[in-house]
Amino acid sequence: MSEKSLLKELQQVQLAIDLIELGARLQVLETETELSRARLVRLFKEIRGMSPPKGMLPFSTDWFITWMPNIHSSLFYNIYTRLREDHGCERMSAFIKAYRLYVEQVESNDAEAVLGLTRAWTLIRFFESDLLQLSTCTRCTGRFVAHAHSPSHDYVCGICQPPSRAGKTRRRRDAETTEALACQPSPPPARRRA
Ligand SMILES: [Zn+2]
Repeated sequence: MSEKSLLKELQQVQLAIDLIELGARLQVLETETELSRARLVRLFKEIRGMSPPKGMLPFSTDWFITWMPNIHSSLFYNIYTRLREDHGCERMSAFIKAYRLYVEQVESNDAEAVLGLTRAWTLIRFFESDLLQLSTCTRCTGRFVAHAHSPSHDYVCGICQPPSRAGKTRRRRDAETTEALACQPSPPPARRRA
């Protein structure tokens, strides 16, 4: 094996490990790495201490449009596009960094990460397939995940116009998430945890 292919192999293994640690399903690993399925299953078992769960990946764009998932998906996707466009990060490296930053952001607001890693990956694939778009809220100017080709001239996001069942505490917490969205122009913070 040449040095070059050895290096590539090591990068593939590292990518698989990063993804498994963040909660990736087997289908994500099979799509994004060139490692064999048997190898990926072995890696998965070593890292998670169990066999990879079976079952289909979530395939509907609708989940990303429902209220709370939409706020989380939008936060994640804004971080991802900034890393891609402004920092020139390569696709999968931007994806992993963005996912870690998203989890940090949510946890620092005492909330739970509603968007799992496999969902986040599906989200990116939906954008790449032009099934989703970012629409700008006409009130807070934050950019939110919306169905592709949906009219956006009078778009109002789920934080500015929350469903009536959303409680006060929840609303306050989400207002903080909106601020985080609006504050995207600053470079992403350095990772606080190893
Ligand atoms: Zn808004």
